Amino acid sequence: DHTLSAFLPDEAATLAMGEVLAQALRGGLVIFLQGDLGAGKTTLTRGILRGLGYVGRVKSPTYTLVEPYVVSNLYFHHFDLYRFADQLEWEDAGFREMFNPASVCLVEWPDKAADLLPQPDWTVDLLPQAQGRAFRLVASTPNGAACLATLTA
Ligand code: ADP
Ligand code: MG
Repeated sequence: DHTLSAFLPDEAATLAMGEVLAQALRGGLVIFLQGDLGAGKTTLTRGILRGLGYVGRVKSPTYTLVEPYVVSNLYFHHFDLYRFADQLEWEDAGFREMFNPASVCLVEWPDKAADLLPQPDWTVDLLPQAQGRAFRLVASTPNGAACLATLTA
């Protein structure tokens, strides 16, 4: 299947989902992470990094726009494009080169740079529901579907 849906009742469930997703990541994967402020995008990213074995602090790259990690033989770029405005900045900061076959790129607020970003392999939506969050992941490329299948098999 090409989708994964779940209800995440609390923060611990979001972290746990991230740890599960971490097991499916391969170099080159591009993940869009959608949802309003406070939806749990950075929390999910924390869970993914934890799942990859990262033990340090995961801060929200609100002002730097991207935070790079090297974990578990992967380069992992965590983007938060909420404050992204300038296309020139994109070129100058070398963001384009960060999307490469050796790197996983996870992007919060992808719609802020829609014209510049490559097609996502996974699109994740987080939506408030009761006291928790509705989680939905859609795989939209063959590579994305293959990675997702390693989880759902
Ligand atoms: P975003 O990056 O989308 O702005 P954050 O992850 O920074 O959101 O913050 C999300 C907030 O919601 C945090 O306070 C976190 O504890 C909480 N949270 C995360 N997941 C859940 C969940 N499944 N249910 C309830 N609260 C959650
Ligand atoms: Mg965030």
